[in-house]
Amino acid sequence: MLEIKHTLCPLCSVGCGLNVIINDGEIVGTFPYKRHPVNAGKNCLNGRKSIECYQNKFEKAIVSKTEVDIEKAIDEVSMVLNSADNSEVSIICSGNNDLEEIEAINEFGKSKNYNIAFYADDLKDFSDVASYDEVASAGKVFVIGNLLYENPLIGRRIVHAKQNGAKIYACGKTEESVTFNIADETSNSTVGEFLENNHGNIDEESVIVFNYVDSQDDLEKIETLNCKCLPVFSKSNSKGAFAIVKSKSSDELFELLDNTKVLLVFNDDIVDELDFDFGKISKIISFAPCSNKTTEISDIVVPIKTWLEKDGSFVNDMGETQMFTAAVESDALSEIEIIEKLRG
Ligand code: SF4
Repeated sequence: MLEIKHTLCPLCSVGCGLNVIINDGEIVGTFPYKRHPVNAGKNCLNGRKSIECYQNKFEKAIVSKTEVDIEKAIDEVSMVLNSADNSEVSIICSGNNDLEEIEAINEFGKSKNYNIAFYADDLKDFSDVASYDEVASAGKVFVIGNLLYENPLIGRRIVHAKQNGAKIYACGKTEESVTFNIADETSNSTVGEFLENNHGNIDEESVIVFNYVDSQDDLEKIETLNCKCLPVFSKSNSKGAFAIVKSKSSDELFELLDNTKVLLVFNDDIVDELDFDFGKISKIISFAPCSNKTTEISDIVVPIKTWLEKDGSFVNDMGETQMFTAAVESDALSEIEIIEKLRG
């Protein structure tokens, strides 16, 4: 029997709605979620492919490259943690986790005095951000990053702004940026130079939309400007994670990892994101729904539910909390259930 169920796209922080097509209890495809206020029936290719993680999810846990039952893997994790010096254990959680999971991971880490952090693309939380409608109605939009390609449903608001008469100023790392195609002015300069060159041009009618900066100084500059801004994160719940766990820049994470012997990675692919020699860490333990570069080098991989198999909530870039419910039933354990087992 075919069914269609509503959920959220987990692949960036824009927070688009997504419909999944279910055939006899198995998710077989995606379908536009027409009435969702963020994306009104449109999903980018990444969003449409988001179900691949569910379709390729781990069926077994892995210990030292060998498949084992999940209970055995959890016992192994407990043994590693019990024999470690707690000050040398670090937890990295991420905006891939929903709010309830981040709360549970944070409480677990604090109760054991482990180090705990999450990585938010070297960006930070801004308390007063532009809404998506404010982007679409801005007089000038300063775009840092290839948002039309990387976050297309924010890119759509930038296109709407252009159609409404706004001037678009785009800064990007390459000449090939798709965003450059609709911009009135383009720049391949550093973010600092882009902000400096446009300083006199940025006013109350402007919005700065960005998905990267070159340094923490750039974030401070943006904060002092007389306009609204909208940081766009690579993970669905980074905005929600800020309120619970202290984020760390890549430099701060390098320092933490240098002093880490046991690393617990909750639903993240930090190996893909940071240019660090992870071979220096004695034990890496991943809690992940499907394979990624971090699970490939992990000593222990504990499978967790995909977002399609659980209830939860993500906070999107505008700061709106959106709830989702399980689209399918599953025997897999959630991160919260695994943490309860680790607590003993
Ligand atoms: S823009 Fe982001 S949230 Fe929207 S469909 Fe694409 S990846 Fe998913």
